[in-house]
This record gives sequence, C-alpha cells and structure tokens, in this order.
Amino acid sequence: MESNDILAQPHPTSFLHFLWPLSQTRWCYYLEADVKKSDTVIQLKKYNKTYIEYFGAKSYTLEDDKGNGVVVSIKSVDGTNAKITLNAVVGKDFKTSDKVALLFPLAGLSGDPTLISESVIGSKTELLNVIAHELGHTCGGLYDLCEKGNIMYGIAQGAVPPLNLRRRKISKYYTPTDQEEQWIALKGR
Ligand SMILES: [Zn+2]
Repeated sequence: MESNDILAQPHPTSFLHFLWPLSQTRWCYYLEADVKKSDTVIQLKKYNKTYIEYFGAKSYTLEDDKGNGVVVSIKSVDGTNAKITLNAVVGKDFKTSDKVALLFPLAGLSGDPTLISESVIGSKTELLNVIAHELGHTCGGLYDLCEKGNIMYGIAQGAVPPLNLRRRKISKYYTPTDQEEQWIALKGR
C-alpha cells in the first residue's frame, strides 16, 4: 500500500519531537531572601539578566510550594541585580525555605518534548499558533521576534494573522537591538 510505504519512510531525527499538552506551564523564579508583607521589593536568585527581564510591568503570582500565593503588580525590573520593585506591598510573609517563587506563565516551551500549556490559550486557532510557534523554536531554531503578524511573535497566543516567516531583518522580542532574518536562520530548510 502506498500509504504504508510513506509511513515506513525514515524521517530525519530533527523533525521527530514529542508534543506534550499540559494544563499549566510556568517558569519558577525562586526568592533569594525572605519577604515581609510590608515589603515592596522582591529579591530573586541571580538568574540570567535576560530571563529576569521577561517580567514586565504586569501582574504575576508569588507562590510557595504548597500553593499559598498572592498576585503582585510589578512597577520595575532590575535584571542585573535580580530585583523586582512592586506598585504596592506584598501583603503576605514568605520564607525561602517554603520554595517561594515568582511564576512566569508560559503558553508553551520549546525542546524535546515541546510543552504546550492549555491554561493561557483561549481558542483552537491560538492553540495551533502556539504549537507552530514552539516548533519554530524546536525544529527551526528561530528566535522570538517583535512583529505581531509573525508566527514567532514573542507572545505566541497574541500573534495576529497573517502569520508569516520573513526574509527581512526583524528585531528580537527580548533583545530588540539584535535582529533575525528568519528565512536565512531557519534550520533544516
Ligand atoms: Zn517563543
């Protein structure tokens, strides 16, 4: 049968990746120091500056390993010193011994397996966008970019059609002074 012949064809290993749907995917940025409820600054462990600067002036959950948490509103981020300044007091005491972390929600995470989170995805179209986006990282070796009408827009579920790949230079989402020409950079083309 023709279809069996096709299925029996060996695939390049770079295109074989597992996709795992998960209910929730987050990065945990653990605290370096205890936090008091009257504090307005959170000291995180000294993670890579770029990763810490993923946090913008938005709201995130601060939570311990038992699920006790609060939502904090970020005023500013000092990536070099891993310091997060809030718009208001934390409102609850937290101890590092309880594995307290500031949680960064992810729509998906590239790699093998590629993880796809259902919790921040609203529609089937968004889900497909996120899968294509994460496989763009995993299989294509592409970066997150600033252009909203691009499948590699930094917030995958916020990308808007038409979702293109581009030959021209586009700024990277997390380091806008760097650029990528996707069609040149695309692995396995
Ligand atoms: Zn991405």
